[in-house]
Amino acid sequence: MRNLLWLRRDLRLADNPALSAAVAAGLPVVAVYIDDCNEGGPWPMGSASRWYLQQSLLNLRSALAAIGVPLEFHNGRVLNVMNQLTEEHELSRVYWNRVVEPDQLNLDGQVRTMLFDRGIDTSVFADDCLLNPEQVRKRDGTPYRVFTPFWRRAQEILETDVLQPRLLPRPETAEDQRLAGTQQDTHWQIAPTAAWCNKLAQHWQAGEAAASERFETFLQQALPDYDRQRDLPAVEGTSGLSAALHFGEISVARVYSRCRQILLLEQDESTRKSIRRFLAEIGWREFARHLLHAFPNSPQVSLDQRFEHAQAWEPDPDDRLLKAWQRGETGIPLVDAGMRQLWASGWMHNRVRMITASFLTKNLGIHWREGARWFWDTLVDADLASNTLGWQWVAGCGADAAPYFRVFNPMLQANKFDPEGHYLSRWLPEQQPLALVDIRESRERALRRYQSLGKAQHQADLDSGVNR
Ligand SMILES: Cc1cc2nc3c(=O)[nH]c(=O)nc-3n(C[C@H](O)[C@H](O)[C@H](O)COP(=O)(O)OP(=O)(O)OC[C@H]3O[C@@H](n4cnc5c(N)ncnc54)[C@H](O)[C@@H]3O)c2cc1C
Repeated sequence: MRNLLWLRRDLRLADNPALSAAVAAGLPVVAVYIDDCNEGGPWPMGSASRWYLQQSLLNLRSALAAIGVPLEFHNGRVLNVMNQLTEEHELSRVYWNRVVEPDQLNLDGQVRTMLFDRGIDTSVFADDCLLNPEQVRKRDGTPYRVFTPFWRRAQEILETDVLQPRLLPRPETAEDQRLAGTQQDTHWQIAPTAAWCNKLAQHWQAGEAAASERFETFLQQALPDYDRQRDLPAVEGTSGLSAALHFGEISVARVYSRCRQILLLEQDESTRKSIRRFLAEIGWREFARHLLHAFPNSPQVSLDQRFEHAQAWEPDPDDRLLKAWQRGETGIPLVDAGMRQLWASGWMHNRVRMITASFLTKNLGIHWREGARWFWDTLVDADLASNTLGWQWVAGCGADAAPYFRVFNPMLQANKFDPEGHYLSRWLPEQQPLALVDIRESRERALRRYQSLGKAQHQADLDSGVNR
C-alpha cells in the first residue's frame, strides 16, 4: 500500500500541509503532477507560466527524491490519470492542497467522488490563501467588495491565536518508507518549444530554494524601504515573489507570518510603514482570491455590467492597435518599455502594468479581456485571480476599482516614477515609432464613451424598472 500526493500550486517541501500529512501517515508516498491541457477552461496555462512550471517541477523532483518521494509527471485529464493511478498503485489515501479557483474546486469534488467510489480516502488542506474565502465576510454574510474593510477584517481574524498560520517544517521520511523514482525524463515536456521561452532563463530561477533565497534577500535589502521604492520601476524595490507565490514555491503563510514577526520587533516608524505596505500587497493577493471565489465569472465578465455594453469600448478596434501594444510599438515610451520588459522577461513592474493596462483600455478603447489574455500568455506569474482583479481595477469595472475617469497619463507617470529615465533607457529601442494616438484626445474620447455609458445604463435601468 502507498499514499499519493497530488501536487498543483504547492511546489515545495517546507510548510506544505498535504506533503507533511502524507509523509506522517507512515506509508511510502508517490507524488504526481498532472498536466491537463483542458484545465482552466477559457484560461489554459500560458506559455511563460508553462516554462516556469517545468523548471520548478524539475527542481522539486530532486528535492522530493532526497526524502524518498518519487515525483511522476503525467499528461491527460485529471480524472483519467487519477483513475489510472489507482490501478497502477495500491493506494490507501490521496492528499492534496486546495486551489481556490472555481474550476479547481469543482475538480476537487469530482476527484473526491471518483476516489470515494473506489474505496480510497482523501485528505484535502487549505494552503493557497491565508484564510478560507468563507471566513472573511461582511456582517450580513456577503463578500467584501472593497479592499480596506476586507483587509482590516482579515487581519483581525489572522491576529487571533487559533487561526494564526502555523508553519510546518520540511518533512523527512523514514528509510523504510522511501521509494525509488522510475519515470523517464522524456515524459517531462511542459514548456513550449518556442525559442522565446529560452530568454526567460536569463531572468528567472524557479524552485523552492531560489524562492527562499529571493525572500531572504528582499527582507534584508528592499523591505525597509519598500514603501518608497515599490513604485519605481527602475529599482529592484519589490520582492519579485509573484511567480513563486503563484506556484506555491513559498507559502503565503510563511511570507505573511515572517513579515508580521519583523513588524512586531521593529521600532523604526518608516520601516514599519514599509512592512505594513508589503503586508497589504499580500492582502491584495488574498482579496483577489476571495473575489474570484465570490464572483466566479469575473475572468470573463466585467463586475460592473455596464462595461459589457459596446459603448464602453471603441467600435471595431483596429487589430493593428492591439498588435502594436503587444509588441511595444505604440510610440508612448513608458508603455512600450513596459511591454518590452514583459516580452523579454515574462514580468512587468506593477506600476507599469497599471499604465500599460490603462493605455490599452482607455486610450485605445480595447476591451480589458484582450489585455488580460496577452498578460496571461506572457507573464511567468500569470494568476487568474490577480490578473482579473488587476485588469478590472484599471479598466474601472471591477470591485473597488479605480474610478473610470482616472486615465493614467504615461508621460506624467514617467516623469514621476522614472525621473532619471533609467527604466526607459533599459527597455526602449533606439528608434521609437510615432505615437499611435494623441494622449489628451484619446483620454477625452474615453470620457465621452463612459458618459454615454452612464446614460445608456440609466435608460436600461429605467426600462427594466430598476429605478422605480
Ligand atoms: C493589469 C494587472 C495585471 C496583473 N496580473 C497579475 C498576475 O497575473 N499575477 C500576479 O501575481 N499579479 C498580478 N498583478 C499584480 C502585481 O502587478 C504583481 O503581483 C506584482 O507586480 C508582482 O511583483 P512582486 O512580486 O515584486 O510584488 P511585491 O510588490 O513584492 O508584492 C508581494 C506580493 O503581493 C502580491 N501582490 C502585489 N500586488 C498585488 C496586486 N495588485 N494584486 C494582487 N496581488 C498583488 C503578489 O503575490 C506579490 O508577489 C497585476 C496587476 C495589474 C495592474
